[in-house]
Amino acid sequence: MMKFPSQVGRSARNKALRLCIVLTGVLVFVVSLLGLGYALKPTTGEMTTAGFDTIAGKTAGSTSAQVLALGEKYGNGRIPTSELVQVAPERYLTPDAATGFAALAAGLRAAGHDVKINSAYRTLAEQEELVSDLGLLGEGGTAAAVGTSEHGMAISVDLTLNGAALTWMFARAQDSGFSQTVAEEPWHWTWIGID
Ligand SMILES: [Zn+2]
Repeated sequence: MMKFPSQVGRSARNKALRLCIVLTGVLVFVVSLLGLGYALKPTTGEMTTAGFDTIAGKTAGSTSAQVLALGEKYGNGRIPTSELVQVAPERYLTPDAATGFAALAAGLRAAGHDVKINSAYRTLAEQEELVSDLGLLGEGGTAAAVGTSEHGMAISVDLTLNGAALTWMFARAQDSGFSQTVAEEPWHWTWIGID
């Protein structure tokens, strides 16, 4: 096919335009991939390994030293029951955490929610059992290494919470000194004290 000069010029312009569109497409694609990669990137620090049920230093450890005083005096999972306060059958917390928990439970009940504690203080032996049942974190399981769980410090509770109760917790638990310290575990609430 014969081409007139004007057509050749247009064809070259079209080619350049097409190349421009392709390059823009590639650029958008690469930027999208980078964005996706960033979105899917596992969160760092205490969110991945050290976070699950553990004392990450940034959670309960960053609050007043008194919160961890008993656990540090005796060691994680080694606190004598005589030093703790029973908050439900076979469920124990430090005296401060127990006082906070009483207020928390009263608030939950007043708002019409049930209060069911599935776990509180855990001894080293109990944490060992949990590790053998659930597997160790970082090895495909969900249990914190023995000696690293916040439960061993007698400051955490695992609660049965429905959606409405969880919403209440996020809005009001802090009033009683409790905070969600492990994002992946909405049932796990820890006494961090009241400022
Ligand atoms: Zn827990």
